[in-house]
Amino acid sequence: MAEISTNKESYEKIFSALKRHHRLFENSIPLIASENVPSPAVREAMASDFGNRYAEGWPGERLYAGCAHIDEVEFICMDLAKKIYRAGFADVRPISGVVANLAIYSAFTDPGDVMMAASIPAGGHISHGRKEKFGTAGLVHGLNVEFYPFDTQELAIDVDKTKARVLELEKAGRPLKLAMFGGSLFLFPHPVRELSDFMKEHGMHVNYDAAHVAGLIAGGRFQDPLREGTDTITMSTHKTLFGPQGGLVLGSEKHAEQIKKAVFPGLTSSHHIHLVAAKAVAFAEVLEFGRDYARQVIRNARAFAGALNEMGFQVLGESRGFTESHQIAVNVLEFADGGRVEEDLERAGIIVNRQLIPGDIKAGRNYLQPGGIRIGVSEITRLGMGESEMRELASFIRRVIIDKKRPEEVRSDIELFRKAYQKVRFCFDDSLGAYEYVKLR
Ligand SMILES: *Cc1c(COP(=O)(O)O)cnc(C)c1O
Repeated sequence: MAEISTNKESYEKIFSALKRHHRLFENSIPLIASENVPSPAVREAMASDFGNRYAEGWPGERLYAGCAHIDEVEFICMDLAKKIYRAGFADVRPISGVVANLAIYSAFTDPGDVMMAASIPAGGHISHGRKEKFGTAGLVHGLNVEFYPFDTQELAIDVDKTKARVLELEKAGRPLKLAMFGGSLFLFPHPVRELSDFMKEHGMHVNYDAAHVAGLIAGGRFQDPLREGTDTITMSTHKTLFGPQGGLVLGSEKHAEQIKKAVFPGLTSSHHIHLVAAKAVAFAEVLEFGRDYARQVIRNARAFAGALNEMGFQVLGESRGFTESHQIAVNVLEFADGGRVEEDLERAGIIVNRQLIPGDIKAGRNYLQPGGIRIGVSEITRLGMGESEMRELASFIRRVIIDKKRPEEVRSDIELFRKAYQKVRFCFDDSLGAYEYVKLR
């Protein structure tokens, strides 16, 4: 326990920790695939008074006064979101990706219905999970979850086996109501084009969870779910899409009323309006710079994966070119478990996450000591790094994990390397440093 402090001391300690956190990220290599660094403009919007207001309801039809400027920004935000994803309808109010998924569950299913989604070792997300694992779909909305048959060699949903399973469930009196595509370990596109029509013919609503790949879709570098046949898309706005932490639902006018009601009053009261403003800013940046950004993200991921592979790491998906997204998955069992590797790299200033990989559960491994790590390159791409920097980063990882160099020794080299990348790229205004601490007091 911390020693007893005066109120003022606690207050000061908070700011001291915040500043140390900023310095940590200034000096580290941030490789968490679900994270990114927002522009100074996005941070400015987040610090505005919008964050202290309520604007319940739809813009133009609010339940409170004082919303004139909020409405103006929320309309801009919806227009930009629709333009990016070529969608007929956007609800920018969900406060996170999980809430966006819950909006789909609430709008298109009832408790007790059956959904098909990817299992966690096959890349699925906890928000698609079963009740006994405390997954959101089961625990919060009472859905029963069936998993896609998954080919662990090809790292792909098996289309034929999926169709067979759908028919089998139908025969057994457990017809599916919702098909969920997308995931958290997401190296290759899902077979949306191959399965959407079939799923719809069998009575399912089809949703694509683009939480991870939203920025790549926006830049035209990943599958385009609405064109491939999904009804709706859900996403987080802060992973490859470089906005504030938040959520978004997209679809056609046909689904608008159900989604709007699910989001409010169903799942939000305040919808965190400063984040709506920040989303709008990020969407404008994405429309302007998103194509170049997404192209570089994919190039970087492939270069990083190739370099790791040459250095002796077992990078997943080799037969398919390692990755088509911002992510790389590495089986590290030859050297240590994923938890240990994560810790050693952290001591060197390289921030990654341990990762369950296909085969882990069958082999009795769990998420504390899984077989892999996951690497994401969105944030370092945003900091201006390119393919040659990816090779340097791979060699830092090699020195810690294969050569067993002291992490502290590698850390000082990393801090030196890191000095050249302190601004956010792919945005309109970059006067403030990427991790510069802003004091308002
Ligand atoms: C991260 C993630 C989410 C959750 O998003 P939050 O914004 O953190 O609530 C949902 N689905 C998938 C596939 C994810 O990877």
